[in-house]
Amino acid sequence: MTDKQNIKFDSKCVHAGIGDYEFGPVVPPIYQTSTFKFKSTAHGAALFKGEEEGYIYSRMGNPTVEAMENAIAELEGGHKALGCASGMAAISTTLFSLLSAGDHVICTKASYGPTTTLINNLLAKYNIESTLVNSADVEEVKKAVKANTKVIYIETPGNPTLELTDLKAVAEIAKKASAELVVDNTFMSPALQQPIKLGADVSLHSMTKFLNGHADLVAGVIVVKDEDTYIKFRKTLNQLGGVIDPFNAFLVHRGLKTLAIRMEKHSYNSIIIANYLENHPKVKSVTYPGLESHPQYSLAEKQHSGPGGMISFELKGGFSSGENAMNNVKFCQLAVSLGGVETLVQHPASMTHLSMGKEKRESAGITEGLVRLSVGIENHEDIINDLEQALEKA
Ligand SMILES: *Cc1c(COP(=O)(O)O)cnc(C)c1O
Repeated sequence: MTDKQNIKFDSKCVHAGIGDYEFGPVVPPIYQTSTFKFKSTAHGAALFKGEEEGYIYSRMGNPTVEAMENAIAELEGGHKALGCASGMAAISTTLFSLLSAGDHVICTKASYGPTTTLINNLLAKYNIESTLVNSADVEEVKKAVKANTKVIYIETPGNPTLELTDLKAVAEIAKKASAELVVDNTFMSPALQQPIKLGADVSLHSMTKFLNGHADLVAGVIVVKDEDTYIKFRKTLNQLGGVIDPFNAFLVHRGLKTLAIRMEKHSYNSIIIANYLENHPKVKSVTYPGLESHPQYSLAEKQHSGPGGMISFELKGGFSSGENAMNNVKFCQLAVSLGGVETLVQHPASMTHLSMGKEKRESAGITEGLVRLSVGIENHEDIINDLEQALEKA
């Protein structure tokens, strides 16, 4: 084979993490086992002491999981990866690894709801303080830095507003503050954005979304850039216990093979659909990093190698218009989550962000008529035809 380091990204998606196995299968076998036999007590002792390589117990390590982790570390340009039971397990493991009582964390306002709740409520119980900022404005991040700031947590594009954060600029701020920059890269995937190459210390994902890509499991992953961080995170993951199951790791690894080609089609469809929506009489505005009208279009061009599959748009008719459109989709499916091969649509004000209340929603940029679309890889004409008839009733 050619030098593995030099192959192109789409080839890496197919080959990354695949080794040589007994009987010569071309994909890693599924080691669906909780535990591994020792040859003797001396062998067990050597494994526990780390003097010999091998497996002990699947919470601590499993070959099927490791194959998937190696693949993702390679795609993200990181040192090693840690497979987790969910995106939230990846996020909590990261924050509990990096933060101690008395520390301060800066978090972007436009982040996944449960992440904000984890930081504001659960971490606060352990005396970890936080400041929420609009990280699209880099100055706001800089101003929020305190002597005890240990983590800057960014999600870009943000959820569900699709605002961008300049990762290189925030990485500079983090470096000066001796804080770790953690990036939730779920919306872009390494096919379109590689945070570690832009200066992040940790890149993490809900693999439930684009990485697995088939809406058939819940999983997460953390990518780190050096061995010391890896060892520290592995200990925390082992203690918190939110590891991925070997079968789910196998499915994610299978999904990764088509990541590059899926992201291309998500982006291709989304550009056409975003343009269609921008010209629709019932649509007030469209936010999509692939549109020149996106306020940070030039940053998108620099930071991403494609605009991705997530579109937000605002209906002129507000809340009821959003509800009516949602209740009339037939081809697109009304569901939360994102990043699968099928097109999903949701209306945050009446669904995911209902309990937040109107005032808080507006301050987070979630207006009453905002609709979030996760564009699938179907034919774009079928998606547009469905939106057309649903919007007629909006
Ligand atoms: C879904 C999601 C999460 C949480 O992931 P789970 O796999 O549901 O635990 C975190 N961040 C982002 C951006 C997400 O979309």
